[in-house]
Amino acid sequence: MNSIQLRAEEIGFAYNHKPILDDVNLELRPGEIVGLVGPNGAGKSTLINLLSRVLTPQRGRIWFDGHTLDQLSAEQVAQHIAVVPQVFQIPNGFTAFEIVMMGRTPHLGWLKSESARDLEIVRAAMESTSTWHLANRLVNHLSGGERQRVIFARALAQEPQVLLLDEPTAHLDVAHQIEVMEMARRLKNEHALAILGVFHDLNLAAQYCDRIVLLKEGRVFAAGTPSQVITAEILRAVYGVDLLVLPHPRNQRPMAFIGSAM
Ligand code: ADP
Ligand code: MG
Repeated sequence: MNSIQLRAEEIGFAYNHKPILDDVNLELRPGEIVGLVGPNGAGKSTLINLLSRVLTPQRGRIWFDGHTLDQLSAEQVAQHIAVVPQVFQIPNGFTAFEIVMMGRTPHLGWLKSESARDLEIVRAAMESTSTWHLANRLVNHLSGGERQRVIFARALAQEPQVLLLDEPTAHLDVAHQIEVMEMARRLKNEHALAILGVFHDLNLAAQYCDRIVLLKEGRVFAAGTPSQVITAEILRAVYGVDLLVLPHPRNQRPMAFIGSAM
């Protein structure tokens, strides 16, 4: 088993004394995709923000490579951990290329000048997200799916060891959902990235994730393989609905069906 890359240990967090996360433990290893699922408001985005040092936990610690995140500067964190946020405010007037080049910022020297190597990394990130042909287009003029892939490319240009994805497939059609998930799988296999992704589509998560962590009201309600977590009993307890869970005919992974009695 690979060593742990990122570890959240007994995390507690509150916004203005309103408790949001309580005693959350989570480990991410190189070469795995972990799905973070749970109802709206369960605390998934808050956890992503804590793991990327945008927020600081009030209780517990987050470890990266032998250091706690608060021992590292924002720039050091950004050299290792990249985020594709749920909402990304793109500043006006930038081309796709310029946005992706911003991913290199934490790696540039104090002169902040871009080298041929930075250009090469940006190009590779854009090619692997099928956005290189959009390089000179203004990002504000791109479609939602194209923009999402540009933000993904920007995260890849950071050359991270850990990739945190907050609903990367929201607003994407099924073809682009698969494209994003295949890309994530390729990155974990070829670059041994540790990937944590928030997904609303349980079936998509079950197909692509090695493990799933299910949050309910700020606590880990279940964690394990997709088959251990995606069960009718657990989904009823967390979402309050009855779903039919069957193994996928091709790979036996769990599939949850909405099965209204007709
Ligand atoms: P999820 O991503 O699982 O939908 P969030 O982490 O976004 O959940 O939110 C968890 C809870 O924290 C929600 O009740 C939300 O209203 C609250 N919350 C999120 N961001 C803030 C904030 N900046 N200030 C106060 N409360 C917040
Ligand atoms: Mg969220």
